Amino acid sequence: MKKILLLIMVLAVLALAARFLSTVPAIQDRVVARGTATLAQQAATPLPIPEGLNVYVCGSASPLGMGQAQACIAVVTPEHFYLIDSGAGSTENLGRLRLPMARLDGLLLTHFHSDHISEIYEVNLGSWVGGREQPITVLGPQGVGKIVDGINATYNLDRIYRVGHHGADLLAPELGVLQHQSLAAGETIADGELKITAYAAEHPPIEPALGYRIDYRGRSVVVSGDGNVNAVTRQIVDGADLLLHDALSLPFVTTLSKSLADAGQTRQAQIVTDVIDYHASTESLVALANETNVGMVAFYHLVPVPPNAIVADMFLRGAPDKVTLTEDLMWFELPADSKDIVIHKP
Ligand SMILES: [Zn+2]
Ligand SMILES: [Zn+2]
Repeated sequence: MKKILLLIMVLAVLALAARFLSTVPAIQDRVVARGTATLAQQAATPLPIPEGLNVYVCGSASPLGMGQAQACIAVVTPEHFYLIDSGAGSTENLGRLRLPMARLDGLLLTHFHSDHISEIYEVNLGSWVGGREQPITVLGPQGVGKIVDGINATYNLDRIYRVGHHGADLLAPELGVLQHQSLAAGETIADGELKITAYAAEHPPIEPALGYRIDYRGRSVVVSGDGNVNAVTRQIVDGADLLLHDALSLPFVTTLSKSLADAGQTRQAQIVTDVIDYHASTESLVALANETNVGMVAFYHLVPVPPNAIVADMFLRGAPDKVTLTEDLMWFELPADSKDIVIHKP
């Protein structure tokens, strides 16, 4: 008993001493210098990008739910870096993942709902400041020009301020202006060994909306954006290794809508009910996984973001092993010319 008391007293004295030392300016300066040196060293060390196709979840959320960033997927090979959508909170995740922003090749938009486009300028600014050597091209369905022109106009003064402050040698003004290119369903883009195929997504009344399939050295990923599972989805996932698909938990959303209605929140109940018809239910995705030869199905753009393990389990009810649930900062490694998929959890 005496020994325990003595130990508690020693620990209390040590804690008090540590607290006192942490208030001494000279010690604070040393701790901060050490911390910044570690951060700077980390930033100077390029992230090792494995040979093959690598898919990072920079945003797993839909507008329903909290705690995760909205739609964003990064597709990275040793030579390529494309982002698919840029929802709220996703830029912070790109920083956490330490993805090589200075070599971003392009931003693919699936459609123009706010949860897919709200951080386009943050991506532009982060990569511009980071030393990107080409302007970013934003690719997307018809209407992408309107979005990009609007962002360029909105942030015109921001660009002028930053170039004025840092100088044109450090921040070349022309690299801060976004470019755009319209894509139609069925159109493909070849970038070396990487091929991007746009396909039509069923997300009524949003028209047109796109999803993307990316093929690289025998590996492939399909990213849905928002929309229902239909014949086009079944066709585009044929032979694909990985599908990242928008997913809605019908049991949860139905129950939530009823609870809102019972509590007299009729507007909110109606809005929650409205989202059911234009996102893929988990049941339809489980059927897709069972009936097609897609290698793995990963749910993202979660409606809602599961607030706990019970709701997370609801998403995977009846799902085969090849179905998984994503969260921010998770990534999938698809080694070239292989069938393996390595899942890295945060
Ligand atoms: Zn949408
Ligand atoms: Zn969405």
